[in-house]
Formats: sequence, structure tokens, C-alpha cells
Amino acid sequence: PLGYRARPTKVLLEVAGLRKHFPHGDAPAVERVGFSLGEGEMLALLGPSGCGKTTTLRMIGGFEVPDAGTISLRGRDITRLPPEARGIGFVFQDYALFPHLDVLENVRFGLRKMSRAEGEARAREMLALVGLSGLERRRPHELSGGQQQRVALARTLAVAPPLVLMDEPFSNLDAAMRVETRQEVRKLLKSSGSAGILVTHDQEEALAIADRIAVMEAGRVVQIGTPDEIYLNPVSEFVASFLGRSNILRGTANGMRVDTSFGTLPLSRAANGAVNLAVRPEQIMLEPDAEGPASVVGREFRGHDQLYWVQEGERCMLVISGPGANIEIGARVRLRICDCVVPLV
Ligand code: ATP
Repeated sequence: PLGYRARPTKVLLEVAGLRKHFPHGDAPAVERVGFSLGEGEMLALLGPSGCGKTTTLRMIGGFEVPDAGTISLRGRDITRLPPEARGIGFVFQDYALFPHLDVLENVRFGLRKMSRAEGEARAREMLALVGLSGLERRRPHELSGGQQQRVALARTLAVAPPLVLMDEPFSNLDAAMRVETRQEVRKLLKSSGSAGILVTHDQEEALAIADRIAVMEAGRVVQIGTPDEIYLNPVSEFVASFLGRSNILRGTANGMRVDTSFGTLPLSRAANGAVNLAVRPEQIMLEPDAEGPASVVGREFRGHDQLYWVQEGERCMLVISGPGANIEIGARVRLRICDCVVPLV
């Protein structure tokens, strides 16, 4: 069912043992970062501010020299090549369009090796792809942030790079525009066969457009996998709480089952002994029950669903219910976990 996210077979980029310690930094900004990327694959580097995402991307782009490690593109070692010799495309936060050139000239810029007519035809084709036909003669300052972003993307994709690096490329867009543009970008990259690495601290964005997500914490990649793998089977409390919300429970595991105060539950993967468990708020059922051991202490209506905070003894659990559930604050309830739970390291 998740076929469109199938792992590509041919490796495009191989990153191994990357390390970067800046002169005045207490700890390395990036340490032992390694992953591979398939041709045409979209990878999100996801993590909180300062975890090393941008530094990793800049080393891949050639804007920063790693202290250790290697980067190879289609089998060729590019670790120490300057950016312009790598054949990689970039779309950065500020877009870096040339203010004195119009839209068409901005896109044609990377196509200088082609004849003028050829370059112009290609640039027009790319602008049509990003939905900007008709705006060829505008200057960057006459465009909205979203349009500028698409010009930058058209300029990058015009040269059909095998890999496009993107650092928070949607940060200047409003919420609705962001959702639309990120899907467009995904489609454009897929249709041109380019792979992409996207730096973001927005978990929803990573889940929405990446084929795989590498979650970073304090300079390291702590988990890498498809969005559903990472969401449904986070390895640690950090990953579980960074991607969505999680309740953490204690339990005693025995293979694929775990004993908890909610009874014996199935595990998402095998574990043994005392474990912490992650339970997503949508995996818990809330049943009104005058005799129930828990009570609703908070509620937030969000349109498509509702959040409930439920106190049971010392423990406060977060539960997500459908928009139709109508349980008042103070009501007695019973909680039931209706899915497998995740053992954390
Ligand atoms: P953000 O989402 O805030 O951009 P990030 O995950 O991209 O964060 P990086 O920009 O890679 O993080 O920074 C990682 C660490 O390295 C941070 O502690 C940062 O302060 C430090 N750092 C980054 N660039 C430099 C530099 N040129 N000199 C010294 N320290 C740096």
C-alpha cells in the first residue's frame, strides 16, 4: 500500500562517518553521521534547532569541510570538491534570486552553456512546470514569497541535477501555501528524477513529503526510516515525542507482549524486562463510565479531532478522540489501549 515510497535500489549518495567540530563549539555539531540515498529519493533531515541538520547539508553541498568522513555521489568521492564541481542543486531559505534580473533571466542563469534560444525555451518550460507562466518579465521584488520560492526551484531544477539540497525552503510561506508548495516540490523532483534532501524542524512537513526521514539529535542520526516506520515504531522517547505526541508508560516485557497497568498488551517489536513504552494519543479509547478510575481534566476541540487530558491516579494521559465525542471536563472515564505499544530504548 505504501508502494510510492518503495525504497529505490540504486544508490545515488553515500555519506559515511561525517564529523564536524567547530572551533568554539563545546561538542561536535555533527558526529558519525552516515546514510545512503537512492536515485530520485526524498530524504528529510529532521530535528530540533541546533541538532546539526544544516551543518550536515552544508558538508554535502561543499560549503563546509568535514573533519572526518566521506561523501560520494554516484560512486565518486566528492568530500573535498568545491560546491560548483559537485553537480548538486541548492534551494536555500532566502532563495538568493538575482534582484536585478527578471524571472526568466534568473531561471536561465544556470543554463548559460546552452544557446540563448535553447536556454530560454528550457527556462519557459520550467516556469510552466512551477505554475509561473506569464510572470517571466517580473523582477523578484514583484513576486510573493511563494512565487520567489518557485522561481528558485525552477532555476535549480532547470539544470536537472541528480540531487537537490533544500534548507527550510518553505519557511517564508504562510501555512496554506506551505502545504501546497511542498507537494508541488515533491512532484517536481519526482517527475524530473532528482533526489532531494530537505532540512526541516517541522515534523508534519517531513512526514508529508519525505520517502525517508533521518531524525537527528545532538549531532547524530538517531533513527532513519520511512515516515510510517518512524511514527509507528520510534526507537526512543526523543523520537516518539519529536514526531507527534506520545504517552510514556512503564511495563514488563516478555517477547512480543508487555504487562502494564492497562493489562497485557501486544508490542510493536520484541523486548524483555522493564521497559518504557510509547503510546500514541490516538491509540487510546476513552469510555464514559461513572465507576471509571480516571477523570477528564482538560479538553481541546480541534475541528477534525479533540484532545483530552485524563488523570488516572498520579498519571496524566493525552487522548485523541473524534470530533463527535462529547465528554465534559470532570467526567469519570475508563481508558483502553486498543493497539500495540512501542518499547523504547
Ligand atoms: P537550526 O534548525 O536552528 O538551523 P540545525 O539543526 O540546522 O539548527 P546547525 O546549524 O547544523 O543546526 O548547528 C549545529 C551546531 O553547530 C549548533 O550548536 C551551532 O551553534 C553550531 N554551529 C553551526 N555553524 C557554526 C559555525 N560556523 N561556527 C561555530 N558553530 C557553529
